[in-house]
This record gives sequence, C-alpha cells and structure tokens, in this order.
Amino acid sequence: MSGARLVESALDLNHAVYRHVIPAGEPWIYELRRGQYFRILDLGGNQAVDTLFYNAHDYADRYSAQDTIRAQRNLYLTTGTRLISTGGNTLLTILADTCGRHDTLGGACAQESNMVRYAIEKRHMHACRNSFLKAVTEWDHGMTKRDITANINFFMNVPVTPEGGLTFEDGISEPGKYVEMRAEMDVLVLISNCPQLNNPCNAYNPTPVEVIVWDVSGMAAAT
Ligand SMILES: [Zn+2]
Repeated sequence: MSGARLVESALDLNHAVYRHVIPAGEPWIYELRRGQYFRILDLGGNQAVDTLFYNAHDYADRYSAQDTIRAQRNLYLTTGTRLISTGGNTLLTILADTCGRHDTLGGACAQESNMVRYAIEKRHMHACRNSFLKAVTEWDHGMTKRDITANINFFMNVPVTPEGGLTFEDGISEPGKYVEMRAEMDVLVLISNCPQLNNPCNAYNPTPVEVIVWDVSGMAAAT
C-alpha cells in the first residue's frame, strides 16, 4: 500500500440512524454495533480527531497502533486499513476516505506534552487526555486512566521523513472531508475532538466535527 487512497462513500446522509456534532474541544463516547458504518466529517477543516476504539465486550482488547501498522506495513491510515486490536481482532475497516491520510504515531495531547512542546505556561490548557478521562469517568463502566492508550489522530498530518523523522505539519484536510469505516465487531468509540491551540495541524483553531452512523443491515451495503 502506498500513498493516499481517496475513496468516496455511497451512503446517503438521509439514511443515517445517528448524527451528532462534537463541539471543538469536547469528548464523545458511543457504542457501535457490528456491521454499522461510522463516518467522521471534518466540518471546519484540519481538525484533529483523537480517537480510541475498544472491543465493546472487553475493554482490555483495544486499538493497537503497532498491530495496525504491522498488519498493513504502512504508517498512515487510509482506505483499506484494518484497525487491529491488541487481541489481534479487526475492530473496524476504513472503507472510504476523502482526506487520504491519518496519523497514529503522534499521540494525544496532554498537559505534560503541551508544557514540553510549547511552553511551561501552557500547562493549564485543556488537552485531549483530560477529555478522554472526563468521558470515561462519566461513562462509568469501570474504565480508568490505564485504558487511555495509543490513539488515532484522524485528519492530522504527521508525516515521517525518509530518515524516519516525525514532523507535525499543516493539515491536509479541509471542510467536508471525511473518513468512513465499518465496525467488524461491537466497538466502543471514544473521541476527543482536540482542543489544541498550539499546533499548526489545526491552524491553531479547533473546530467541530460531525459523527454519523448507518445501520446497513437491510440496506444494500455500499461496498
Ligand atoms: Zn489533542
């Protein structure tokens, strides 16, 4: 697999069973059922959508960046990527992508990393790690800090140089771009719609994204 694989979805928004706009800087948690299609729509462009996935029946079986990268032998996530869990299961498969590339190396922002990367006085600023913790605490299904592990940054541009360098660059997404995936098992989705104000990846301006779910059982599948 090489380069972006731009593929549009055939699904109709009018047939969606769930639509929700996640405001800039807010978390969101949702249980997808096996077979459902899940789209994340970048409304304002270049928004980083920090995302964690879990087996809905066993939170210890969760998205693994390492296994996903190894399975596809590529660092970037795009159409065709199977998102693999620590237990070796395919959680979801990306079936459409109009952005072309998503990061799973850069990690989620935290108060500590804000301080190290930007400035000591950035410590008080709201970060994805806080959003994740707030969401799982309110979810109240026994998840804790230990469940917040390596994540995906949908729409975020973290290119790797030929020498293996990791760089955070201006975004490559724009308003209306989306990524869509099918749940291959019952999956818990945890999103922090990144509140970051110090990173050029979102032009220092966090914006809302929309999450959309289709129940295609009974409908002709789009793929
Ligand atoms: Zn963040």
